[in-house]
Amino acid sequence: MNKFNNKCSVEKNEQLGRYVVAVQDIDEGETILTEKSILIFPVLGDETQRCCQCFKKTGDICKSCKKFPICASCGPHNDFECQILQKLDKMPRKLSNVFGVIRCLIQMENFENVEFAEVFDSMEAHQTERRGTAIWKTHHKTTIEPLLQSNIKSLIKSVDVDTDLLQRICGVFDVNSFEIRAPGGLGCLRSLFPYAALLAHDCVANTMVSIDDHFQMKISSNRPIKAGEMVTYCYTNPLWGTSKRRESLLVGKYFNCMCKRCEDSSELGSHMSSVLCPSCSEGALIIRNFNWRCIECNTIEDPIKVEEIVADAEVSVKESEGNLRLLETTLRRYSKILHTNHHLLVDLKQNVCAILRKLIMNPAFNPNVELLQRKAQLCGEILEVLKIVQPGISRMKAIALQEFAMPTADIARMQFDSGKITKEQLKKTLEKCQQDLKEAARMLFYEPVESPEGQLARNIMLDLKELQEEIKDVGSWE
Ligand SMILES: [Zn+2]
Ligand SMILES: [Zn+2]
Ligand SMILES: [Zn+2]
Ligand SMILES: [Zn+2]
Repeated sequence: MNKFNNKCSVEKNEQLGRYVVAVQDIDEGETILTEKSILIFPVLGDETQRCCQCFKKTGDICKSCKKFPICASCGPHNDFECQILQKLDKMPRKLSNVFGVIRCLIQMENFENVEFAEVFDSMEAHQTERRGTAIWKTHHKTTIEPLLQSNIKSLIKSVDVDTDLLQRICGVFDVNSFEIRAPGGLGCLRSLFPYAALLAHDCVANTMVSIDDHFQMKISSNRPIKAGEMVTYCYTNPLWGTSKRRESLLVGKYFNCMCKRCEDSSELGSHMSSVLCPSCSEGALIIRNFNWRCIECNTIEDPIKVEEIVADAEVSVKESEGNLRLLETTLRRYSKILHTNHHLLVDLKQNVCAILRKLIMNPAFNPNVELLQRKAQLCGEILEVLKIVQPGISRMKAIALQEFAMPTADIARMQFDSGKITKEQLKKTLEKCQQDLKEAARMLFYEPVESPEGQLARNIMLDLKELQEEIKDVGSWE
C-alpha cells in the first residue's frame, strides 16, 4: 500500500489544492513515502522501442496483438490488455505519442483495478488553463486525432472516450509525471506516482526522491522537518536561475512559485542570477523594484541592457557545448561580466568538468597536475553554490564532493613526490579528502543499490578503505 509515514498528513486548501504537512518532527533521512508507479510511458518524441512490461529496449512485438512491444523474458502479454489491443483496428504510427494514453484507457476499463480510475480521477490536469494553448493543440494533433480515428471508442466502455477525456489524460501526464531513468540508464521515461505528486513544490525542497529499477519510488527528508512545516519537493532544476525556474513551473505546472528563494533577488545569497556591476566591477547587480541595482555601490543598470547581456551569454554557452577550449574561453569571458555563481557560469563549469572527467577516466591518458587542479577548482566552486541551494542531503552535492576530493588527493600525492609539500601536508590533505568522501558516501546512502549513484557509493567505500591505509602508511614514514 502506498502511504505516507505517520508523521505526515494530507491537507487541502483553496490555493494549493491537496498538499502534505508534517504533523510531528521528522528527522533527516527518514522515509516519508514509498510508492509503486501506477503508469509508465515514454517521453514525448522518444521512439525507442521498449518492452511494455520492463521498459528495456527490445526488438520483439507481442505475437498475439501485434501492437505493443514485449521482450522474451516478460512475455506473454497481459491478457486483458492484449485482448483489447487485438481488436484495435488502427494503431497510430508513433507509439510514444499514444502508448501512455492507450494503457491508461485500458486500466480504466479493467474492473479488477478500480483503484486506478479513482486515483486517476483525483489527479490535477489544469484543463481550464490548458484549453486552446499550444500544448493542447500539439496533443490534439499527435495523440488525440490519431486515437479518435481508430475504433478505440468502441473498445472502452467504462468511460466516454472523447476529446475532453483524452486531453485530460494528457494534462494529468504533463502536470503530474516524474521523469525517471529508463532501465540500464538508457534514456528517460515518464511515470505517475499519485501520492508523491501531492507534495507541494519548493525550489529549496526538504525531501529527495530516488527510484529503483522496479519503478518503486522512495521519498526521504533531506533535512530535519519541523512539525507544522510543509513537506516539499522541487519540480524544477535547482541549478537554473529564478526566471527560468519560475517560467518552467508556470508553463508546466500552472503556478507562479513564491518560495523563499524565488522571492529573494539574491537567491538566498547564492547570486545565481546576478550580474557584475559595470561601475565598481565587484558588486553584484540584483533586481529590486524592477531595476537592477548594485549591492555595493547602488548603481542602477538598465534592465534591457542586463537582459541583453544574459541573452548573449546564453547563446555563447550553447555554442561552446562539448568543446573544451571554447568552453574555457566563454567561461573566462563571462566570469568578468556575470557573478561567479551565475547559473550560466555554473552550467559552463559543469560542462568543463564533464569533459575533464572523461579525460581523467581514460586509462590511456595521464592527467597533469594543472588539469587536476582545474577539475578540483571547478568542482569546489560548484559545491559552494550547491551548499546554498541544496542545503540538506543532496545527490548533486555528494557527486561534486567526490569529484572535488579525488583530484585533490591526486594533486597532493604528485606535489609530495616532487618535493613541493611535506609529509605532514600530504597527510593533512588526505585526511580532509577522507572527510569529504565520508560525507559524500553518507549522502549517497539513500540511493538504490543498483543505480549509478549506488554504484558510486560503493566505489567511494573502496576508495575510502585504500585512503585509510594510505594515511596510516604516511603517518608511519620516518
Ligand atoms: Zn520486458
Ligand atoms: Zn499482446
Ligand atoms: Zn521557487
Ligand atoms: Zn557597483
